[in-house]
Amino acid sequence: MAKTLNSRIPEGPVAEKWTNYKAHQRLVNPKNKLKLDVIVVGTGLAGASAAASLGEMGFNVLNFCIQDSPRRAHSIAAQGGINAAKNYQNDGDSIYRLFYDTVKGGDYRAREANVYRLAEVSNDIIDQCVAQGVPFAREYGGMLANRSFGGAQVSRTFYAKGQTGQQLLLGAYSSLSRQVQAGKVKLYTRYEMEDVVIIDGHARGIIAKNLVTGKLERFSANAVVIATGGYGNTYFLSTNAMGCNCTAAIQAYRKGAMFANPSYVQIHPTCIPVHGTNQSKLTLMSESLRNDGRIWVPKKLEDAKALQAGTKQGWEIPEEDRDYYLERRYPAFGNLVPRDVASRAAKERCDKGFGVNNTGLAVFLDFSESIQRLGIDEIRQRYGNLFDMYEEITDVNPGELACEKNGVQYYKPMMIFPAIHYTMGGIWVDYELQTTVPGLFAIGECNFSDHGANRLGASALMQGLADGYFVLPYTIQNYLADQALWPRLSTDLPEFAEAEQGVQKEIDRLMSIQGKRSVDSIHKELGHIMWEHVGMGRTKEGLEEGLKLLKALRKEFDENLFVPGSKEGLNVELDKAIHLRDFILMGELIAYDALHREESCGGHFREEHQTEEGEAKRDDEHFFYVGAWDYQGDDTKAPELVKEPLEYEIIKVQTRNYKN
Ligand SMILES: Cc1cc2nc3c(=O)[nH]c(=O)nc-3n(C[C@H](O)[C@H](O)[C@H](O)COP(=O)(O)OP(=O)(O)OC[C@H]3O[C@@H](n4cnc5c(N)ncnc54)[C@H](O)[C@@H]3O)c2cc1C
Repeated sequence: MAKTLNSRIPEGPVAEKWTNYKAHQRLVNPKNKLKLDVIVVGTGLAGASAAASLGEMGFNVLNFCIQDSPRRAHSIAAQGGINAAKNYQNDGDSIYRLFYDTVKGGDYRAREANVYRLAEVSNDIIDQCVAQGVPFAREYGGMLANRSFGGAQVSRTFYAKGQTGQQLLLGAYSSLSRQVQAGKVKLYTRYEMEDVVIIDGHARGIIAKNLVTGKLERFSANAVVIATGGYGNTYFLSTNAMGCNCTAAIQAYRKGAMFANPSYVQIHPTCIPVHGTNQSKLTLMSESLRNDGRIWVPKKLEDAKALQAGTKQGWEIPEEDRDYYLERRYPAFGNLVPRDVASRAAKERCDKGFGVNNTGLAVFLDFSESIQRLGIDEIRQRYGNLFDMYEEITDVNPGELACEKNGVQYYKPMMIFPAIHYTMGGIWVDYELQTTVPGLFAIGECNFSDHGANRLGASALMQGLADGYFVLPYTIQNYLADQALWPRLSTDLPEFAEAEQGVQKEIDRLMSIQGKRSVDSIHKELGHIMWEHVGMGRTKEGLEEGLKLLKALRKEFDENLFVPGSKEGLNVELDKAIHLRDFILMGELIAYDALHREESCGGHFREEHQTEEGEAKRDDEHFFYVGAWDYQGDDTKAPELVKEPLEYEIIKVQTRNYKN
């Protein structure tokens, strides 16, 4: 029988659904909470906030992460800020507007009900974080400051210099530490979840590898929450931390949790360009820089050629010969168009030969105008640490005056290019954040929920913290309400033994291949296939070819991988090999999804489906749905597509317009 998906969206008007849900959902009484154990895998903003909240509520929480401290989760890297509809600027913001911008920004491929709830709880997040002592930037009078991010015409982004993620994570970590101290949360650092244990169709525990001893251990609980981040590193080079992986998510997928919209991958327009073949990661230059930085390439091809040859420098191109192409194409939003639009526009200019840098694969981000308008001190106040980071990596100081001509001061511009950054797709979850496996929940970047086909800047932190502090603590109770009737499950049950043996067998297999290729060399090849065939511009032929290459790469991995060392004790190469096995499957999932989605929307751009002006052309008649993929029992088998139709009650689906 064909599978179906039930998104469990509550009844009632969109703006009342969450209130209604909270009023009627089942609760767990305080005594029963003490009997219930919840596993939370991940200590990033989503995992830490969920673990701290569930602990505070009285549940017993087991909280896992692969790093040596929860504070090292990748969330710490977030720079620019977090959105909320406080309207402190009195510039016309509202919950509705944040909701609308997010649905529109996601190219009308997100669930209305989820996004409305996200906008609703956004304001609570700021209050919660302020109460924890998160040092958000403030105005002179003491009010919290805001700046603008792409896809919005209001300033709603709260920030702490260029270190917002770090400060928010420290806030969540302090709440978590309080629960650790109270004995309600037990932390398992340097543990990696390798499998989820399913008993009678419900998630009842996990198998985790102690990354220091190499031993597999079993953990049981009444529910399992996965908060393990995104799958951007499938592309090898990305702005993600190198430890980011999709192993927990893919293992959940293998065990029956469907995977939604994998092809919605975000390519961020402002990253430091690739500068060689030995690079292992890319660096983001925060979107906040687009508040005051202007993006341009030369108007004349001969200037572009001279810049590529190094015979001319950016500051030598006079104002009248610069093409501020975002301001030209999208006058209403200018440099603050959403990321997918900005990335594609950069690619279009570079494809036409106007790119800069010795590769021709870069555009300028220039602060000359804003420095003259506001002064270097003000600009440094806003972006000082980002300027320093850029200078450390490239040896160019974007705040340095290069020359003055005809009364115009020219500062040294940054060079930027799009790079893989975030994944909107993820484990399919219903309104309660529960996956297709009962008792298995997914939160934060690892679920697919709220961003549709493209995420707006500063909305990931908002979603991760919304899920962890304000949504899951309600919805998981609806599931746990009758779980207190169950006895605590023993990890001696055959299902645990079988899952552990399965993981051990896989580790033995990887160790025994003893081929000639390092994990990194195969991962780099994977990244190359993904970028070339499943990257910023996709075609049917390219995707079919990509899928062929991915299948061949799996064979190469299975036959020619070399993992040095032993399976006992610490073996980072072995851990990377496990991640790579899952990235290859993830790569295929992305390609299958991209191939079937015969339209362009958000981060998914099919070159066959574009307007004459090169804008994405959606096909709402045939693709107005969430595409969830169901594992068919074997990595080599093609997954099956299950559709969740989208239903909009209050937003009129239309072509995105950032021009006027
Ligand atoms: C450079 C950069 C800047 C960004 N800036 C912003 C910004 O300004 N605003 C914004 O809104 N968003 C930003 N983002 C996006 C945002 O940071 C992430 O989407 C968000 O932090 C993800 O949080 P998370 O809790 O879901 O996952 P993560 O923070 O990635 O945490 C994942 C957790 O899971 C654990 N884990 C992973 N796998 C396993 C496993 N198998 N077993 C056990 N534990 C595991 C890890 O140890 C970690 O604790 C940025 C992203 C990048 C890359």
